[in-house]
Amino acid sequence: LIERMRVYGETIFAEMTRLATETGSVNLGQGFPDTDGPRSLLEAASRNILEGVNQYPPGPGRPELRRAVSRYRSRHYGIELDPDSEVYITVGATAGIAAAMLALIEHGDEVVVFEPMYDSYAAMITLAGGVRRPVTLRPDPETGRFTFDPAELRAAVGPRTRMVLVNSPHNPTGTVFTAAELEEIAAVCREHDLLAFTDEVYEFLTFDGRPHVPLATLPGMRERTVSVSSVGKMFAVTGWKTGWVMGPEPLVTAVRTVNQFLTFSANGALQLAIADAIDGEWEWIAAQRAALQGKRDRLAAGLAETGFDVGVSEGTYFVMADIRPLGYTSGVDIARALPREAGVAAVPAQVFYDREKEGEHLLRFAFCKKDGVLDDAVARLTAWH
Ligand code: PMP
Ligand code: GLN
Repeated sequence: LIERMRVYGETIFAEMTRLATETGSVNLGQGFPDTDGPRSLLEAASRNILEGVNQYPPGPGRPELRRAVSRYRSRHYGIELDPDSEVYITVGATAGIAAAMLALIEHGDEVVVFEPMYDSYAAMITLAGGVRRPVTLRPDPETGRFTFDPAELRAAVGPRTRMVLVNSPHNPTGTVFTAAELEEIAAVCREHDLLAFTDEVYEFLTFDGRPHVPLATLPGMRERTVSVSSVGKMFAVTGWKTGWVMGPEPLVTAVRTVNQFLTFSANGALQLAIADAIDGEWEWIAAQRAALQGKRDRLAAGLAETGFDVGVSEGTYFVMADIRPLGYTSGVDIARALPREAGVAAVPAQVFYDREKEGEHLLRFAFCKKDGVLDDAVARLTAWH
């Protein structure tokens, strides 16, 4: 393994899911739902395979899916994308992130990224030869909501900064950045002529009526922003690994130049099915969002009763919980012990931070599970404590 990748061992998701399986634990670690997406989507995919949609799709993706993506971004956010040159289909958002970092980061370039951060960002910035400049999200003393200090953001930008990486709705904190927060980021991008990369995979999973605002909709941002989203969270089919990269033509062409040699194309049969669902299953998405909001409340209440200090989750599949009121300090130790001791798996938030100790006392719990599974997890945690 090349030297700069040696610090990256097995991902935390693989480790915790393995531990959960070995111990028969309730797995609230890796974020994946335990019910599948809309029936019409599953049936269309099966039908496509049986009817012979089984050879390579075009490298940039099936035109039906590129057009469907262009339509929903226009309808929901007023972002106009040319489906032929400004939308590009990848093997999940993950491949889009990888290709974008490899295509847009020169060796030595700095990337400003909010921590805690989804694990693939750090690894892919490193693989591209880039350097991370973390800006830490911390709970607001009054509301408990994770947010950033604009002064810290500005201080993170230097002469070698190339890009700001933004994930909203944010994994693992559950923060949905407000228009005002995004404007702070946009202003920095404009002033320093930076690229922005936005990971919007949880774009439709926001709660309490909160809107998702794409950074590209802010003044001066469309021409400098590359965005990814994917079907996994949109339609609760995380194993389908189909995503899309969106942005101005020169940036999407750069991503495409790299990605054609990473995967050449993504799957074909699923792309066709996803295109139809994007056009036709908005009620399903709204129902999923409402159900997840209820699950958030259910798990948050249960964790609070167990004694955790529970964070504010405005979106995503996740809620953070502080273990200090239970008398513990190391989330990594507790996360490793919980499957055996309590029969529950969670993810230690520390793995999402560059700065040592910032997230030491936090666990991330996934609530995208059946109500009975959440209740079972809470009962086990209560018995353990
Ligand atoms: N970004 C974030 C913030 C995620 O939580 C995930 C996990 N699903 C991904 C990207 C990866 O998405 P995909 O499965 O489409 O590759
Ligand atoms: N996005 C999911 C999570 O954060 C799963 C990630 C993965 O398995 N790579 O848990």
